[in-house]
Amino acid sequence: MKAQEYTVSKHNFEECMKCTVCTVYCPVLQVNPLYPGPKQAGPDGERLRLKDPFFFNYTLKYCMNCKRCEVACPSGVGVADLIQASRIKYDRTPPKLRDRILASTDLMGSLARPFAPVVNAVTGLGIAKSVMDATLKIDHRRSFPKYSGRSFEAWLRKRAAQQAAFPEQVAYFHGCYVNYNNPQLGKDLVKVLNALGVGVQLLDHEKCCGIALITNGMSKQATRHAEHNVGIIRQAVLERRLPVVTTSSSCTLTLRDEYPNLLGVDNADVRASVLMAVRYIFERLEAGATLRFKPGFRKKVAYHVPCHMERLGWGVFSERLLRMIPGVEFTLLDSACCGIAGTYGFKKENYEASQAVGAALFEQIRSVDPEVVACDCETCKWQIEMSTGYRVENPISILAESIEQ
Ligand code: SF4
Ligand code: SF4
Repeated sequence: MKAQEYTVSKHNFEECMKCTVCTVYCPVLQVNPLYPGPKQAGPDGERLRLKDPFFFNYTLKYCMNCKRCEVACPSGVGVADLIQASRIKYDRTPPKLRDRILASTDLMGSLARPFAPVVNAVTGLGIAKSVMDATLKIDHRRSFPKYSGRSFEAWLRKRAAQQAAFPEQVAYFHGCYVNYNNPQLGKDLVKVLNALGVGVQLLDHEKCCGIALITNGMSKQATRHAEHNVGIIRQAVLERRLPVVTTSSSCTLTLRDEYPNLLGVDNADVRASVLMAVRYIFERLEAGATLRFKPGFRKKVAYHVPCHMERLGWGVFSERLLRMIPGVEFTLLDSACCGIAGTYGFKKENYEASQAVGAALFEQIRSVDPEVVACDCETCKWQIEMSTGYRVENPISILAESIEQ
């Protein structure tokens, strides 16, 4: 008889004490009876999968990788990582055309940008949505993010000399969303950092962080992106001596944690230098830096902490910054998942579950009735705006609006 090979998991499944707390916090388990839940899919399933890959269960694709189970687990088990790592290791189903399109945010952005007005008009048409629903299984009820005609990179390159004149510098990992959809968020970050005496530089040709590639079964491509991005971050941090700031909580979690934990790309020498800009700014203000706020600024803001921001443990920085702005009437929304989980909620088979997961959050936003919802994640923004009609802005944009030039 062949000896059973036993591998100790780096995701700590041996520490599971079977308390089932994670099952209470899993948003998918509450709405999708096909999903086995974090305990069964994570540590319980891992014991079986290590004995025989036959026990890999294809319903693990329903996991949104929101990481709420990991935040809840009192034993520090990497529950979501166990699930995603097993999908990477055992799932041999080739990604569908739809999943390749949804995951290729960099490519789609660069193709759409030169024709942004036409692309935006066409993707907003009911007939186009029906065609995509019938052919690709992208749900017709979903709204698509608009593309910008000019990239953030082009905008910042034109200002490279002006930015270099500031006494201090940071490198900015802007992500696909800022580059192709919302350059204004990048401009808002530049405004705030410049007001603090800090110039902003680009990294040396960043690629998409790869989170959508990971969750859509394209881990080889994601690993190539990770190796490239860690290389240019290393160059910025170790050679140019710059911290790297970000404005997307999902990109940040991917750069810091998914690369080593899911893709095996070592970033230990630079991980601590990759920070959400809200943390970087908050720490500078705590250290004595000041911003000049506009007199008479008034805004009723409700802050939604994205799931990945909770996993980073950094929602407190956005909250403290927003509370610091004179004239902001602030509400911290209850901890809840919005249900979109990147590309997950775009898929026809997930649409109902996605909206059911977000329902409690949508209801609370309506009851608070803010002028603007603050949130550090672009896909939460799409989901909340589509589902409630309320405007959603990154905390950095609200901060930029509140300060003098
Ligand atoms: S990552 Fe989210 S969806 Fe997946 S098991 Fe954990 S709580 Fe559930
Ligand atoms: S919360 Fe953690 S310890 Fe409890 S069952 Fe889930 S994985 Fe196990």
